[in-house]
This record gives sequence, structure tokens and C-alpha cells, in this order.
Amino acid sequence: MRFTKGFFPTVKEVPADAVIASHQLMIRAGLMRPLGAGIYSFFPLGYAVMKKVMQIIREEMDAIGGQEFHLPALNPVELWEETDRVKAFGDIMFHLKNRALVLAPTHEEIITSIARNHIKSYKEMPQIWYQIQTKFRNEPRPKSGVLRGRQFTMKDAYSMDSTWDGLDVSYNAHAEAYRKIYTRCGLKFFIVGASSGAMGGSGSQEFMVESNAGEDTVALCDACSYAANVEVAASAIAKASRTENSKPVEEIHTPNIKSIDELSEFLKIQTSQCAKSLVYFCGETPVLIFMLGNDQMNEAKLQGVLGGDVRPAHPEELLALTGADAGSIGPIGLKAKMKIIADNRLEGANGLYSGANKNDYHVGNIDFNRDVAVESYHDLRIVEGGEPCPDCGKELRIVKGIEVGHIFKLGTKYSVSMKANFLDEKGAEQPIIMGSYGIGHYLGQNSRSVRCSSHLRQRQRGIGRKKVGRAVRCTMCEGSYGAV
Ligand SMILES: [Zn+2]
Repeated sequence: MRFTKGFFPTVKEVPADAVIASHQLMIRAGLMRPLGAGIYSFFPLGYAVMKKVMQIIREEMDAIGGQEFHLPALNPVELWEETDRVKAFGDIMFHLKNRALVLAPTHEEIITSIARNHIKSYKEMPQIWYQIQTKFRNEPRPKSGVLRGRQFTMKDAYSMDSTWDGLDVSYNAHAEAYRKIYTRCGLKFFIVGASSGAMGGSGSQEFMVESNAGEDTVALCDACSYAANVEVAASAIAKASRTENSKPVEEIHTPNIKSIDELSEFLKIQTSQCAKSLVYFCGETPVLIFMLGNDQMNEAKLQGVLGGDVRPAHPEELLALTGADAGSIGPIGLKAKMKIIADNRLEGANGLYSGANKNDYHVGNIDFNRDVAVESYHDLRIVEGGEPCPDCGKELRIVKGIEVGHIFKLGTKYSVSMKANFLDEKGAEQPIIMGSYGIGHYLGQNSRSVRCSSHLRQRQRGIGRKKVGRAVRCTMCEGSYGAV
């Protein structure tokens, strides 16, 4: 065909609703057009790109022994009820009007039902099954072009093994195949969740590409490829210093001084000589938390330490517990007894300034070993750009990332709930050990985290869950959370 005969409808103007670069360019270059919210028609040039990517994926999946399936997008709802994921997906899942059918947002249940019907012996494993299929997800707010659509194409693969060592082999083969796929696509990617050094040490890895359109914030080291979501990222930042002699504690009148910056300016001291106090509730239990200077507390890390959802104390609770308002709270002279924890940087520090639990007063020369009943020290900080990498000490960058793939050791979660068993060498019945591996639209297969479709892993900014009737909803947009 002549190029002049081609159907390439380009436009000069930036489409009004297209915010991110890829969305604008794909429309301007005539690669695709929207048909409805979050639904796109791929035109010949766009589909040519898609076919090329699919070809690369097929070659690399076949190279690790993958066998291609084509599973139906229309699924009987009963299969999804076996794993309780109708509830977990909530409004994200498209239900047909007759209620007996759903449009598949992913295919673990279908794969597990096929394995249940056909794999009977350890001799029939390992298996790697994959497909490139259209999937559906009822996004409450489709946006960013094809990055977050309601109908999308996804490569999903599943491994079935008879042993946990076998799962490691399948998982590592996928990790290697994914590296090759993204390299061949010309993407500069990084891997989040990889244990440093050895592969397969952790249960899941996310392949990400740096982009301002990304919804994940990641601490990244270009020198050693350390990469971690800011919710869990650590750094090798220095602890607060300790001087040889601790002076006696002194109370200082500090009228109208609230913030760490105001305090350091008023007393002509460094912010790193101040201990910031925060009060949170975990259930009914108030907890007093100390951070060094202007370090920001990471709520996700705090939840991990306290083992439950947390919320900041209200002003009237602060007054009742400490005897002062926010900005004047500290470790000495508390009104009520409270559990006290502190960030690692404060361990063993002295010569510090903090609130006096009395409005307009602060206390100086605090020695954390001598004066504060700290129950335990933890990494509670939000890592900032420029801090030293925990693995190699070079500078970390904080970047936005788009998740382009995810490999995940499912284990026996689906085979147990759907009774997909095999007979081992001794003739004993065992659940099949599975892995799942996606490229494309992310569906949140990590059972450890609970996430909202629109506010993926942004709980550190105070976005969390709340109960609305019987459903658990995102506090920001009331979108469904799914422990998928
Ligand atoms: Zn590093």
C-alpha cells in the first residue's frame, strides 16, 4: 500500500482532555481515538505498534517454555465467587445485567479452573501458560489515555509447579524474560521489590519506567539500581550526633513558636538539634512519636510498626494527653502516660530541643537515653532525594514511575480456595504452586496491600480506607478498595 493511501488522521491541536504527553501524542499522531471514557479505537499505525510489542512478548514468553492460550473475556461469575474476588474487585468488575456473567479483569480463576480439571500429577508440571487478551475494568475516573482505560490489552502468564523450588525457577525465568522484553522495547526500566543481589528473594517484583505521568513515587539509585516505593524506601542518612556530656534539662520561654523552623531560628540552633513530636492513634491507643528536625513521618511505615491503621490525634485529644497544643508537645512532663516510639536517627542522641507540654515553652538539653522512655526505635521517615542509598551510599533520586509489569509468587492462594490439587511422588494430594506474571494494565495482585484504583499506594499522603456501609472505600474518591 502507498503511504499516501494510508489512513493516518493526524491533528495539530492538543486534545483538550489529554493531560499527559503519551495521550496527546498518540491522538495527534493518529494512533488512536477515544470512543468513550477510557475506551480507545486503535487505528492502523497504533495497532502496528501494538502488534510489534505483542510479537516481542510472544517470542520471549515462548523462549521460556510458555504456551499461549486464548481465554474468554466473558466469565461465569461462580468461578470468581470461589475465590471471593467478586467482593474484592467490587465496582471495578463489570457485571452483565443477568448477573451470571462478568467481564474478566484478570484470569487467575479461569487458569486455576483449567489446572484443576486437567493437572492431576506432579509429572504434568511445570507448566507456563500465557495469553494476550482484552480485559475490562470499570474505572470510576478513566484518565491518562491508554494508561488507565476501561478496556485494555494485557499479557498475563501463570506458572504451575509441584514444588516451591520449582516456583522459584519459573519466577526467575519470567524475571529474565521481562528484562529481555523491556530491553528489546527500548525502555529504560528499573525493578522495585527486588532483593539486592539475588533474584527471586522476594515474593513479587514490579518493573517500572520513570515518567512524570506515573502514579508511584520511588526512591531510585542510578549507581546500584536500588529502587523502592517511598512507602518502604530507606536511606543511609546519618543519625543525630551525641556529645560527650549531657547538660541538665532547661525550660525556655518560646512565645508563639510552633514549627521546627521557627524554633531553630528563635534559638539560633540547627533544625537537626530539634525533636519533632507527633501523636497518633492506633485503634484506641495513643502513641507519641519523635522525628529528628524536619524529617517527615511515613504513615505507611508507622502502620507497619504499630500493626494497624493509624490516624493523627485531634487537637482536643492532644490537649488532654499532653497538656499542650500541637507545636508545644515534647517528651518531658506529659499529662498522660503514652507509648513512646522514635525514629532511628534519634537513637542515643542528646542536646536536643523539643516542646515542654506547656504552650509557649520548649525544653533544651534533652538526652534520649537519660530523659525519654522510648519503647523502641524504628525507621519511620519519608526518604528525600539526595540522601545516601542504603545499599551503596550514592545519592538517591525520588522519581515518578509507571508500572509496566509485575511478577508475583501466588503460591497456593488460588489452588487452595479452588481445590486445584495434584498427586505428589508419594501419592499425596497437594495444592498446585502458582505464579502470576502481568504486562500491561496493573490490577493489583499483591495480596499484602490494599489499594484504591485511583489512589494506588498513596496512603502516605493521608489517603486511606474507610467503611461505607459494608464496603471498604478510598477516603479520597470513595472508589473501591480491593485486596485483590
Ligand atoms: Zn545504590
